[in-house]
Formats: sequence, C-alpha cells, structure tokens
Amino acid sequence: MKVLITGGCGFIGSHLAERLLDRGDRVQVLDDLSTGSMENIEHLVGREGFAYRIGSALDVPLVAELVDSADVTVHLAAAVGVKLIVEKPVHTIETNVRATEVVLGAAARKKKLVMVASTSEVYGKSTTFPFREDQDLQLGPTTHSRWAYACSKALDEWLALAYLREQGVPVIVTRFFNTVGPRQTGQYGMVLPSFAAQALRNEPITVYGSGEQSRCFGHVRDAVEALLRLMAAPEAIGEVFNVGATHEVSIRALAEQVRDAAGSASEIRLVPYSEAYAAGFEDMMRRVPDVTKLERVTGFRPRTSLEEIIRDVVADQRARMIAHAAGRAPTGAVRH
Ligand code: UDP
Repeated sequence: MKVLITGGCGFIGSHLAERLLDRGDRVQVLDDLSTGSMENIEHLVGREGFAYRIGSALDVPLVAELVDSADVTVHLAAAVGVKLIVEKPVHTIETNVRATEVVLGAAARKKKLVMVASTSEVYGKSTTFPFREDQDLQLGPTTHSRWAYACSKALDEWLALAYLREQGVPVIVTRFFNTVGPRQTGQYGMVLPSFAAQALRNEPITVYGSGEQSRCFGHVRDAVEALLRLMAAPEAIGEVFNVGATHEVSIRALAEQVRDAAGSASEIRLVPYSEAYAAGFEDMMRRVPDVTKLERVTGFRPRTSLEEIIRDVVADQRARMIAHAAGRAPTGAVRH
C-alpha cells in the first residue's frame, strides 16, 4: 500500500511514516516545514519505499499529483499548538480549512480514502465527561482567537463528512487527545516536552493556573496504532473517532512525576494564566475521551502507562540536549 502523509515531518506524522515503512508499506511525505522538521524524518531518508516533498498542502497541482499516486492520504498538516494559534490566528484558520479542502478535492477525483486529523479541542468547554463523539460541541466566542483552532478543525470535520455524502469520498475523522511522546517539541507550548526540558535543566517547572486542571496523555505509538487499524476498518468510513488515553492526571501531579523521572531538583512554579497566555485565554479544566467506539471498531484502545510515557519523553529530551550541546542533530530513531 502507498500512503501519503501530509504533515509527515511533524510529530505524529513522522511516527506514522516509520511504522508504515516497518511493515513494508510505501510512504510519501508532504510537509512545508512550518512546524515539522527534517530532523524528524532524517532517519527515514534513503529507506526503501520512502519519499518526501517539501511543499505546501495548499499547492493544488502538487497535492492532486500526490493524492492520485497514493492509495490512502492521512491528512495531518495543520497549524497546531495553542501558542501558535493565539499568535497567528489568520494562518491557523487558513491553513487548517484550505488545506483540508485541497486534499479532499483531490481525493474526490478517484474516491481515495482520506483520514482527516481533528482534535479534542472541538469539544470546547463541554463538561459532559467523558467526551463522546456524538455529543454537542461547546465553543467560546469568536472574539477569543483560541477558539479559531477548534472551529477550523470542526469545519474540517464537516467538510470531510460532506465530501463523503455528496461525492462519495471515503473519509475517517480522528480526534486526537493530548498525544505525546518522543520528537514532540515544547516550542509550541505543549506541556510534557516543556516540563521535561525544564526538569532536565533544573529550571522551574512552570505550571499554569492552579495546576488542578487535568488531561489524559496518550503515547504517540498508540495513536499511530489506532490510525493503522482505522485505516483498515471498512466500518470506520464516514465516522468520527476519539483517539486518546483515559487515564487522567492533574498538571501539578504531572510536573511532580516529570521532576521525579528526570531526577531533577527543579522547583514547581505556579504561573498565573494572565502571565502565561494572552488576555482572554480560557484553559479547559478537564478533557477525557470516551474511546469505546475506537475499541469497538478496531479492538484497540491506548493503554501505555503515564510512567512509560514520561520516561520516553524525558529520555528523548535528554538525548536532544546532549546532541545539541555536541552541535549535531539528534537521531530521529526511536525504540518502539
Ligand atoms: N501547561 C502548563 N505549563 C506549560 C504548558 C502548558 O501548565 O508550560 C498547561 C496548560 O495550561 C494546560 C495543560 O498544561 O492546562 C496542557 O497544555 P497543552 O498546551 O500541552 O495542551 P492542551 O490540552 O491545552 O491542548
């Protein structure tokens, strides 16, 4: 099978590419390197069946050519990370909506399967836990740029499902919950790599707000497994799936566990939201997925323990620091 991965130089995309190659599939990556990086795929370059193009998912002829030559497209290219979204709302909305339109339009010609990546952000401020795919979404006002991300991703979902209904394009939507693991960078505000880097440098670990807010962290390896199984499940077509772990941890407890795992002497510092984010930012207190649907259709649910996840992320951050100190790029290879 040949799989096109848009955003394949990113965190989830590069792990997916590696797994596909390991099982003998061919992989074509398309990435504009806006948030992705060559470092993530360096170890894949030269492997049999691997090809990459540095280009934009907004480039209609290029996307048409690549979608046509693949059996399946996994559309991961997007503007991601809360920090980026608040800083560059125009870029977020345009990239997320237009790129999905371009990919779906290309897939419509030969009715190729497209997996569209969405996010747990679409549940917004809902307080009905755990989040089920068919529950109502509760987004905040358009005057707060934070919601532009959720809204753009919700529109991607509508578009995908509309392409199926109107034009018969097979689509599957995945809503990723806090997905973490090696190669994720803290550069765009993601909490776990940021905490790991702070702990390893013995700098204060910056917990925003009270630290009582909680999240469920899933290992990227499990997210990739879910994608592969959904890709092979005919009953997944036209459906939306939560992809995430269900073990909940407060951000304060996460900071403590990261500090312990890193053997660090860092202080844990509470930073008021007003200092951490732009004015008007709203953080979610909880976010928990219901993954019954994923398990029913694929027989799989993410189970990697938080301890193992933290261990992997700390080890990855440590390797990066050592590599950067030595003036070379860390090898992208990760033990699975
Ligand atoms: N967070 C934090 N310190 C940081 C970065 C994030 O306390 O340096 C908090 C953030 O406010 C949120 C949680 O960690 O409550 C998860 O943040 P992230 O941006 O990783 O993902 P989100 O769930 O917000 O999409």
